[in-house]
Amino acid sequence: MMINTILEIFPITGWRPIVEIIVLWFVIYHVLLFLEGTRAINVLRGVIILLAAFFFFQMVGFGTLDWLLTKLFGISIIAILIIFHPEIRQGLARLGQRHLFGTILKEEELEYIIQQVVKAAENLAKDKHGALIAIENKVPLNTIMENGVSIDGKVSSELIQAIFTPNNPLHDGGLIIQNGRIMSAACLFPLSENFGLSRMFGTRHRAALGLSEESDAVILVVSEERQDMSLVYQSKLYKDLSREELAAKVKEFLNHGNG
Ligand code: ATP
Ligand code: MG
Repeated sequence: MMINTILEIFPITGWRPIVEIIVLWFVIYHVLLFLEGTRAINVLRGVIILLAAFFFFQMVGFGTLDWLLTKLFGISIIAILIIFHPEIRQGLARLGQRHLFGTILKEEELEYIIQQVVKAAENLAKDKHGALIAIENKVPLNTIMENGVSIDGKVSSELIQAIFTPNNPLHDGGLIIQNGRIMSAACLFPLSENFGLSRMFGTRHRAALGLSEESDAVILVVSEERQDMSLVYQSKLYKDLSREELAAKVKEFLNHGNG
């Protein structure tokens, strides 16, 4: 029999199942990682429930229900491919861009992005223009990006300044930088309900704080009222920072989990 031949060629020894478990863990972990923060994660839940029902009906021997689910499965796979084609494409693109763990940005690239963002923040503050810029860290911000306007542009201080110039249709809301690119602007961030926040800070700062409560993003806030620059990370507000302090803190926080 074929199985016997296979067993002769690959005798079962202790290490094979271990390798298989590692490979499976790796694949499942990464599928979950790139689905996290997208609409697709909810669908995954639905698929798991459907699968569980399917195996249950088969075990118990409910022929009709089993038949129905088998048919439904075929159709739903095609439906999922059509509905989630943007996510699948984005996920695959991201897979190519990422290292096995964490992001791929080279030290110089990161340095350049930080420098451009800080320069933009400083100029915006000088011009009395408010800004809200979130740099994605480990936790994907895709769900929040979806409610904004998609950009996918190279990071430059000019582009950031242009976006936050008043009367520009994109100036209202937050900008998101993901994998070293300006992915989305005019995004609505979740507002923090932290009652301890001083009245000095309005909704822009509250939105930065809210996002930092739900993710590990590093968020820059330029206040149009006070013309100062603050940084928000993991529910903490670092206010009135100089250009150098801002750059150093952004770098520190982005490297937190990568070391
Ligand atoms: P500033 O110091 O610049 O005045 P602030 O903290 O006092 O900031 P507001 O004056 O209320 O806040 O700023 C309002 C701006 O904040 C809005 O025009 C909008 O661009 C931005 N904003 C408010 N809420 C959100 C939100 N949930 N997500 C993203 N941006 C928001
Ligand atoms: Mg205000």
